Amino acid sequence: MKVLIVFAHPEARSLNGSLRDVAIRELEAQGHDVRVSDLYAEGWRSEVDRGDFPSLPIDARLGVAAASKQAFEAGTLTADVKGEIEKLLWADVLILQFPLWWFSMPAILKGWVDRVFAYGFAYGVGEHSDKRWGDRYGEGTLAGKRAMLIVTAGGWQDHYSARGINGPIDDLLFPINHGILYYPGYDVLPPFVVYQADRFDDAAFAAAAERLRMRMRTLATTSPIPYRRQNGGDYVIPSMQLRAGLESPEARGFALHLDRPDECGAADKPGVIRSTTNLRAVTA
Ligand code: FAD
Repeated sequence: MKVLIVFAHPEARSLNGSLRDVAIRELEAQGHDVRVSDLYAEGWRSEVDRGDFPSLPIDARLGVAAASKQAFEAGTLTADVKGEIEKLLWADVLILQFPLWWFSMPAILKGWVDRVFAYGFAYGVGEHSDKRWGDRYGEGTLAGKRAMLIVTAGGWQDHYSARGINGPIDDLLFPINHGILYYPGYDVLPPFVVYQADRFDDAAFAAAAERLRMRMRTLATTSPIPYRRQNGGDYVIPSMQLRAGLESPEARGFALHLDRPDECGAADKPGVIRSTTNLRAVTA
């Protein structure tokens, strides 16, 4: 397989840098082709502005979505953005790796998404009608590919559990897993999460590295998080409300959008490989 790692940490000698190297070594040992977008090292520009749209007339009002659509269709996006889009089309698997900063991704990685996920590429795709609301949430340009997160967090695993004060990690990562990765079509694998990352020693690192190697060995066979497909009949169009009665009685909030909450890819259960079947195909 072809694997793209988008790496967002400012220090190569960090814990994240070491884990990235573990992942690369294991993937290459398995015969996979690996490319890395090292955002800090490459000086990635994180903010979207007029500079993203060199063909926009100087006196034109900037509407980011409209300009993105026009530039994507005309092939006039900037070279750095086009390069990342080419890598996304190349890769069978996308890995986003980052330290959890303020319960989310570092700004540089959010800016990579803002700039690279162009209109017509990652959103605004497909037929909009009374039967379909575009190709998104399980369909879209990147359908058929896999994606996963590698995340390090300073907090304890208990603090990110169902009743933990930080909120469940699956909820915190939902906007990334569901809103950014599932939206343009990826099958999203359960995230690999390292907790108490600031208190790492050699033993903790050895254990985390072994778990990560196992996740890299099972990239092709780990079952994706069973998010519901937008156009699979579970949602009313155009309100996009989940049809009544589909959810399990205890499901609330983000968990409503899981087809089988009990099989949810609850973060960091690396031993869980539920099936080699694509769950989406089964539920379609
Ligand atoms: P590093 O600082 O590089 O290393 C962490 C530890 O691992 C160090 O003790 C280091 O010696 C050790 N280490 C590194 N490499 C190795 C190796 N090869 N072998 C053995 N030991 C090694 N945490 C949360 O939980 N929630 C938040 O919302 C949150 N927000 C944050 C916001 C900011 C702005 C910052 C700076 C931190 C925040 N944190 C938060 C903590 C953050 O998630 C952790 O600091 C980060 O995940 C640690 O990863 P790192 O790669 O930066 O670790």
